[in-house]
Parts: sequence; C-alpha cells; structure tokens
Amino acid sequence: MTEPAKAKVDMEKLVSLCRRRGFIFPSSEIYGGLSSCWDYGPLGVELKRNIKDAWWRAMVQQRDDMVGLDSSILMHPQTWEASGHVQGFSDPLVECKECHRRWRSDELEGDKCPECGGELTEPRLFNLMFKTFMGPVEDEASVVYLRPETAQGMFVNFENVLNTTRKRLPFGIAQIGKSFRNEVTTGNFIFRSREFEQMEIEFFVKPGTDQQWFDYWVEERINWYAGLGIKRENLKLRPHEKEELAHYARACSDINYLFPMGWAELEGIANRGDFDLVQHASSSGKGLSYYDEEAKEHIVPYIIEPSAGVDRTFLALLCDAYDEDEAEGEKRVLLHLHPDLAPLKAAVLPLSRKEHLASFAKDIYADLRRHWMVGYDDAQSIGRRYRRQDEIGTPFCVTVDFESLEDKQVTIRERDSLRQIRVPIEGLEATLRAKLGGEDLFVLPEGGRVWKE
Ligand code: ATP
Repeated sequence: MTEPAKAKVDMEKLVSLCRRRGFIFPSSEIYGGLSSCWDYGPLGVELKRNIKDAWWRAMVQQRDDMVGLDSSILMHPQTWEASGHVQGFSDPLVECKECHRRWRSDELEGDKCPECGGELTEPRLFNLMFKTFMGPVEDEASVVYLRPETAQGMFVNFENVLNTTRKRLPFGIAQIGKSFRNEVTTGNFIFRSREFEQMEIEFFVKPGTDQQWFDYWVEERINWYAGLGIKRENLKLRPHEKEELAHYARACSDINYLFPMGWAELEGIANRGDFDLVQHASSSGKGLSYYDEEAKEHIVPYIIEPSAGVDRTFLALLCDAYDEDEAEGEKRVLLHLHPDLAPLKAAVLPLSRKEHLASFAKDIYADLRRHWMVGYDDAQSIGRRYRRQDEIGTPFCVTVDFESLEDKQVTIRERDSLRQIRVPIEGLEATLRAKLGGEDLFVLPEGGRVWKE
C-alpha cells in the first residue's frame, strides 16, 4: 500500500472549526490565553467523554483481565525518586543568546536559533515535572510534583489491587487521568500541551510471556483505533531502535498517526520488564511480588504498558473525520465521526416554529434525549440546520414537518450518504438505535419507506 504523503486537512481548518463550533478554546482567553493549555467547550467535552468512555468500555468493562483505578495526581515524592523521574525526566535545552528563546537541542536542525539565527548556549538538562508545595510551608521538605504520567499510581497500587481483587496473572490495571509536563517545545494545537489527559494500562504478565503480550497489545490497540473509524493507512507502527529505548524498556513501539504536521506519536506501547515493581519494592521496603501457585514461588511480574493520550486521540479523530463535499447544492464541511463518538447522536429539526408543530417536535426531542445526547434546532432554513449538524458530526437528523402531525411519521436523514427514510414516530427510538449500531439506513422498520435515495 502506498503511504499518503500528507494528511488531507490542515491544522488551521481544524483549529478554526474547533473554535467556531465550541469544541476547543484557548485557556484563559480573555487574559490573552495561557501557552499550550486548552479548554474543551460544550461539544468538545462531549467528544472527549465519548473517547474516554469508548476506551474504558473496551479496555476495562468488557474484559475479565482488567480492573480500573483512579489514583491521586499528587503522590509521595519518593515515587518520583524511585521511578527515575527526579533524576532522568529531562530534555536537553539550549537558549538563544540573542532572543533568549529556548529550544530542545535534540529537535533542532543546525546550530543557530530557528527564530532569529542567533548563537545558542550549550545544552543543559531541564526537568519536565511541575513542582509545587504541600501544606503551608514552602520548603524542600514540602515539595510535591504534579504527576507527569498516570502510570506510577498503578505500580504503587499493585499490591492493593492484587489483595482486593484476587486477580491472577496475566491481568492489568487501567486508568484515565490528567498528567502535567513542563514541555519545552509545545504547539501543534492540542498535540503537545503542558496539561493533558492519558489513558494508560499496566498489564502484568509472567516473565517469558512478555514478548507475546507485547505483540498482543500492539495489535489490540491498533484495532481499537481502527474500530472507531480511524483509517488504517493513517496509522503506522514505529518500533524503537535498541539505542532509542529508555533504560527500563525491553521493547517499545509507537503507534503513529498522520497528523497535519506529519507522522507523530499517538500512543506508546512498552515492555517495561520488572523495572517498576523492583524499583518501588526497594524504595518502599515492601515486597511487591506475586505468588505463582504452579511454580510455588514468588515472582516479579513483567509489565506491558500501552499508554495513549486522550487529546492526541481527539486530534487524530478530528483529522480523520474532517471532510468537505457538496450536499443539496451547497458546499459543506462534515465530520464523519463514529456514532459512539459524535457529541450529538441525533438532532430534531421542526420545519417551522409554529406552535403546534414546535410542541409536537419537542415531545419527540424530550423522548429521545432520555436515551442519548440529542440536539434541537429550529433556527434558520432546514438546509442551514443540516449543515450545522454535519459540521459537528451528528449522524442523524430527525425532521418533523406538518405532515408528521397527520401521519405520525418523521424523516431520518443520514449525515454521510444524505439518504432519507420516513419512519413511524412510534418505534423511532428503536429505529435510531439500530442505525446508530450500524444497520443500513434502508433496512426499514414496519411502516417505514425510502424518502430520498
Ligand atoms: P513525545 O515523544 O511526543 O513527547 P512521549 O514519548 O514523551 O511523547 P509518553 O511518555 O510515551 O509520550 O506518553 C504516552 C502518551 O501520552 C503519548 O503517546 C501521548 O499520546 C500522550 N502525551 C505525552 N505527552 C503529551 C503532551 N505533552 N501533550 C499531549 N499528550 C501527551
């Protein structure tokens, strides 16, 4: 298969759509914004929740070998000593002697400042963890860090989970939560920010079976993205070279996505060996091991870690879903979002605001929103309203017209194909449920008919 040279949408279009429709705003915008922090608006928060719910359902709730966790963001400072973050979580930085901008030396091409061409300082290491103080006294003894990954919360709870769930190997702990990194170079919209959300799994396995589980998780995770509609040709696996591997990793592969700025990491999957449990056992003095009943001995499990970013998944999904075409004689922007992810599953559109039609349509809306997040829009022409829903990825529009009052039927319009069917209001919920589940629009319920090919 030939690789696409370039993503089909540029970043400005996405940023503008997100801004215009209330998916994402710059943080503290009225004060001029805060660099590389973002606020998810009314539609963005729905899409983000749907992404996290889809991950949680597939990775935790539908599996026997996984349990969830929600550990605190602030952790005992010894955690970060044991994990190696205090010592090693740093990027090499250079500063321009002229304009004083800082750059990651490992990302620079050439030895001059990309901004002004000035001379650069020698690289120095810069720790990426945000530091703060716990309690009223701001001294070295009260330093705590904002976690730069959610992973450590799962390692330090290994024994708690083992003792309370009686899980046997192999099993995993999963969590979703905020992480913070004082990144040196940020940018590319929500791709790299200083506050972001991760969806991480720590999967504990018997040593010797680690390679097989590593391969399993690589495949499983690629399939998860593809299952949500991301095109496979926009996903690429990038195994790390030996010399690139972090000191603790036995193997690592990135799942890269073809973002507007090029191929970049969406998720990292690492075989961490026994590094984390050994480190925390020796730092805490607790024996973090597992009693293997077959072998009748204590072992330290190896860990496979699939670590994904919520915000990067959000961006990848938007890139993949974005499209422009022509509908009903007009240019339109549309998001081909998977129904599970779309902020609104349907929108109810009465053809007129006349009282008797409006109250009839509102009853339909009230009924549907007991089941899903559904929109209601009665402003401007029907064409405009369809465009507005297409642009935010609503899979189905339910149009209520004057005939609906007589025949007790409504029209369902499908976002991607523009096809329409006319179906009885009684049973509308079941019809929509089937369509949201992937049934072809032209599979008709009793009393339904094709409205527009
Ligand atoms: P990069 O090389 O791009 O900095 P990383 O290798 O440091 O990423 P990991 O530590 O493996 O990233 O984190 C796992 C996942 O968390 C990444 O694949 C990404 O989806 C997400 N992530 C990491 N850092 C950021 C960030 N600054 N902003 C948004 N998402 C991030």
